[in-house]
Amino acid sequence: MDGERTFYFRTLGCKVNAYDAQALREELCARGYVEAASPDGADLLVVNTCAVTARAASESRRIAAALRRDHPDAEIIAAGCAVRAVPDFLAGLPDIAAAPRIADVAAAPPVSLQPPSGSQAAAQAGVSDFPRARAVVKVQDGCSHGCAYCIVPRARGASRSRPVAQVTAEALRLAAAGFREIVLSGINLGHYGRDLPQTPDFWDLLSAVGHALNAAHPGMTRLRLSSLDPGMLTPKARDVLAAQPSLCPHLHVSLQSADPGVLAAMRRGHYRPAEVADFIAGLSRIWPVMALGADILTGFPGESEAAFRTTLEFCRALPLTYAHVFPYSRRPGSLAAVFPGHLPAGVKKERAHILRDMAKEKKTAFARTVATLPRLTFVAERVRPARGVCEYYLECRLDGPGQGGILPRQLVAAVPIGVAGTDATDILVRAASARPRQAGPQGDAP
Ligand code: SF4
Repeated sequence: MDGERTFYFRTLGCKVNAYDAQALREELCARGYVEAASPDGADLLVVNTCAVTARAASESRRIAAALRRDHPDAEIIAAGCAVRAVPDFLAGLPDIAAAPRIADVAAAPPVSLQPPSGSQAAAQAGVSDFPRARAVVKVQDGCSHGCAYCIVPRARGASRSRPVAQVTAEALRLAAAGFREIVLSGINLGHYGRDLPQTPDFWDLLSAVGHALNAAHPGMTRLRLSSLDPGMLTPKARDVLAAQPSLCPHLHVSLQSADPGVLAAMRRGHYRPAEVADFIAGLSRIWPVMALGADILTGFPGESEAAFRTTLEFCRALPLTYAHVFPYSRRPGSLAAVFPGHLPAGVKKERAHILRDMAKEKKTAFARTVATLPRLTFVAERVRPARGVCEYYLECRLDGPGQGGILPRQLVAAVPIGVAGTDATDILVRAASARPRQAGPQGDAP
């Protein structure tokens, strides 16, 4: 792969996929490639696929097929989870190369991708380093658990962790490169460290990264955690969370179900929903206002109406502020694919609909609460007008004066003044530095 060529990426799925794509992006740029803003005219098109649900895999395939149809002269590579985990993923799609691991895309000569740097070098290489304003750091990959509905272990292999020192160094590099929010991410953070000497767990890692960032960039860069396995929610976790002043008051838990029978059938009997609820209740002492998200998988084979109601009522009682709801989809090669008791599509759809409505009500109510807070901060992901995600994981829109001086990725202190958006779940804010907007028509008259 030599000479100046252009490439274009389509990345689907989770933050870990986005992280892998960023590492490849920087690798290709280091080799003289230039990133194209669209597939038109690009020499190399890469689809970084996802296989977490049947829908994600078919969407990945649809995109690859469309690119092939619309760009007959381009070199096209399909990479990642669906290529690895879905048999015959590219069947009937000629002239699309398969790269089971995203690193294989740049495999001439083979390389191991370096962690994305977010460095000036990347910028100078003509690549907007992280396309996102909030940097993701992959601390762990793969999974060794084996939930009955999941093929991720087949897509990403067994769990493997990055050493604490390596992750800490990367976080410090990103903070030095100007990132004001860093998201610690992985496929199953509950398995972090099991493969490392001294077997540090995820909370040891968070302590180390948090302290290093606070020492080097006090109050400048905040941390956010991606999805947590409920089995990780221990007294130690609470103590570590309480000791992290720069951590966003936001947790996302891969709950999946709250019915013990369904959890056991899912091969997720390692936690008890009641203990999850107790843990969350105990957090109010640390975070009086917090964002709480959950993954919920509904319609698992054998899930009775009563079991569904148990999950629904549990989630209604939990101080959730949003939820990702997935109707069960049969994954080829997963244990549950051959379980008895698969439910009709209509039932799964209806249950997902009910859960999503519940989650929407909760998000709207939470937005109303956040809109009454005296202060919040958001990371500018867009400017003029400035928009971005605040510590409570809600989208904020800056209204009125103060737009001019805001830069991408900047941490903006703001005062909530109301809710906005079709679902009334965005927060309208004014810049904390700007004089309050005068009521009445002159609005922002000086
Ligand atoms: S913990 Fe379960 S759902 Fe998550 S990646 Fe591992 S096997 Fe899949």
